[in-house]
Amino acid sequence: MIGQRESVSGAHFAFTDRWGGVSAAPYEELNLGGAVGDTPEAVKANRETAAEALGLDPARVVWMNQVHGAEVAVVDEPWGTGVHPLRRSREGGTPVPEVDALVTARRGLALAVLTADCVPVLLADPVAGVVAAAHAGRPGMVKGVVPAAVRAMVELGAAPERIVARTGPAVCGRCYEVPESMRAEVAAVEPTAHAETSWGTPAVDVSAGVHAQLERLGVCDRAQSPVCTLESDDHFSYRRDRITGRLAGYVWLD
Ligand SMILES: [Zn+2]
Repeated sequence: MIGQRESVSGAHFAFTDRWGGVSAAPYEELNLGGAVGDTPEAVKANRETAAEALGLDPARVVWMNQVHGAEVAVVDEPWGTGVHPLRRSREGGTPVPEVDALVTARRGLALAVLTADCVPVLLADPVAGVVAAAHAGRPGMVKGVVPAAVRAMVELGAAPERIVARTGPAVCGRCYEVPESMRAEVAAVEPTAHAETSWGTPAVDVSAGVHAQLERLGVCDRAQSPVCTLESDDHFSYRRDRITGRLAGYVWLD
């Protein structure tokens, strides 16, 4: 259910694993992604189950329509369930926007990021009362979605040296095989992402790239999940299974 959880000065960080939900194969069990082919009823039930385990009101969890970009949305309120990302919310409000990072200064509002191999990035400045969630796959890391999220936090009063950063389960640099040309393109932007698979072929380490970006911005309090999604049977992995569920990372302030 909740694979990792941590609280720092009233800021809360959590990452799910794949167990404890109601989804049938190949989304078993706790699929939290609404755009992967699972039934909306199962996703809704799973999101409620995960929220309950975290002590959150599922109606106060904000999701994104992630598109591997670097756009950031500042939010004060939820915009609907997000189970159908392209459908307008029941309230008749705005559709869930196509962004890969959310920022809020609203206490008690939880921000959620969906992944299955990409890097879920959770950020919080407990002093300023500002949190962010970002989806950083290879394209998002290269486009700078995480620095964009940090800049948006700073505009709301956060200071990089106070930001606590946690990255969740993701495919590791020893497993994420890419063509040589792709590794070169990524490394030209973020040299620390240059990696090699355990079998000796070109690879990309997205988590290493994200942490290097955060370090350059002055974010010192950083921690990275030791879990590789592709190697772990307890986590969804798109590269391993293709049709599969999505894990979620949640960040919020008391
Ligand atoms: Zn791995």
